[in-house]
Amino acid sequence: MRNNVLTDNSNVHYCTGCSMCAVSCPGKAITIALTKDGFYEPCIDEKLCTNCGLCKKSCYKFDNNVLYGNENSSVVYSAIHKNRHELKSSTSGGVSAELMRECIKQGYKVLGVAYDYQKNIAVTKVASSIEDVEQFKGSKYFQSYTIDAFYKSLNDKSNQKYAIFGTPCQIYAISKNIDLNKDKDKFLLIDIFCHGCPSMNLWTKYLEYTKESTGISQFNRIEFRSKTHAWHEYCFTFHSSNTQYSSKKINDPFYTIFFDKNAFNRVCYNCKMRSSLAYTDIRLGDFWGYQYDTNTTGVSAVVLCSDKGKNLFKDVCNEFETRQHTLEETIVAQSYGKLHSCNDKLRKYTLELLSSDLSMKEVMKAYKRTYSFKKKIKIAAKNSIKHLPQKVYLRIKKIVHEI
Ligand SMILES: Cc1cc2nc3c(=O)[nH]c(=O)nc-3n(C[C@H](O)[C@H](O)[C@H](O)COP(=O)(O)OP(=O)(O)OC[C@H]3O[C@@H](n4cnc5c(N)ncnc54)[C@H](O)[C@@H]3O)c2cc1C
Repeated sequence: MRNNVLTDNSNVHYCTGCSMCAVSCPGKAITIALTKDGFYEPCIDEKLCTNCGLCKKSCYKFDNNVLYGNENSSVVYSAIHKNRHELKSSTSGGVSAELMRECIKQGYKVLGVAYDYQKNIAVTKVASSIEDVEQFKGSKYFQSYTIDAFYKSLNDKSNQKYAIFGTPCQIYAISKNIDLNKDKDKFLLIDIFCHGCPSMNLWTKYLEYTKESTGISQFNRIEFRSKTHAWHEYCFTFHSSNTQYSSKKINDPFYTIFFDKNAFNRVCYNCKMRSSLAYTDIRLGDFWGYQYDTNTTGVSAVVLCSDKGKNLFKDVCNEFETRQHTLEETIVAQSYGKLHSCNDKLRKYTLELLSSDLSMKEVMKAYKRTYSFKKKIKIAAKNSIKHLPQKVYLRIKKIVHEI
């Protein structure tokens, strides 16, 4: 009987693209490739597959019993890096890079997500030095290619310790794998609050559009969520050797589709792992919500889920302005505990547009035709407020949140 992640029909969830099936396959029968829709998925060479079933053991698709827990014992802080450069060059409050540096000092190798400027993809890599972890700064808002780094760290039979940073689905898979291999002590796991991962085709099309509209063919640094217009105002900043360009804070094609949630990986709509703290030592995110809604420089949410996580944060907390909070305050504006409703027809249409030969501009034109009148009015109202001077805009925002 066929017994692998693709041919077994007993799956209860969709594929996350984490690559753990390929990493755990003893016969190297599984490779990971992008689908036409732009998501990583396994391909199996049936000639090499022995149907041992090991690939299913750490796979979310077959887990009927995802654990929750750690909510009551978790300790939560807001954190703002005291160093202005660190704060500006991070997505939120700059906690990730500080933890990574501390891990290196404590003898860990660190796995984080870098951007490959040749292949234009996000890749999980292994870093051994403080200089190496710099490449992990900043969120790249699409799936990362994990297989090589996961393979290296999980098959290292020495006493080398690893600190692994990733999305909740990636950390879930790592946690399952090290549980099976009774290897837990060597690993420290840090995940992020996660809204979902959009199709790689969205990024590829957006990048082409940016190259065309700026006339720059090669960027040497990209800030995927730069703070140019302030922390809350999502935008990209692209750097080339002699110039830089920041996208507008309204109507950005990438972030429009990202926040509309019409091009996410199928599993992201009802992901249970983003609402579980059972597989991670620390969860990091933005401290969204009314408490910091007028902050413009960035605030991290830090949820310490285990003693290991609590001890590590203790070692770096002097670098931050911190305040203790409840978990409820932290998750109020997060996707944590929530399902995203999925309009299958609209998602299919959006993914078709993104995998077509149409330019980003043509895609947006066709995509926006699907907007209802009510949605158009809502967007116009929101955008018009964003044109006001920042002080006035922040005041209005505060009043709206107080109501
Ligand atoms: C797809 C995605 C969705 C997210 N959704 C939310 C959300 O809904 N709410 C929220 O509060 N925060 C979300 N985040 C997390 C947030 O954007 C920041 O990554 C986090 O707050 C850490 O910021 P920082 O200032 O501490 O460090 P930064 O210097 O910004 O560090 C970024 C960290 O993210 C990791 N990373 C970067 N790209 C990826 C990737 N593609 N996959 C996995 N890990 C990656 C890096 O390894 C590093 O650890 C999301 C991140 C991603 C990648």
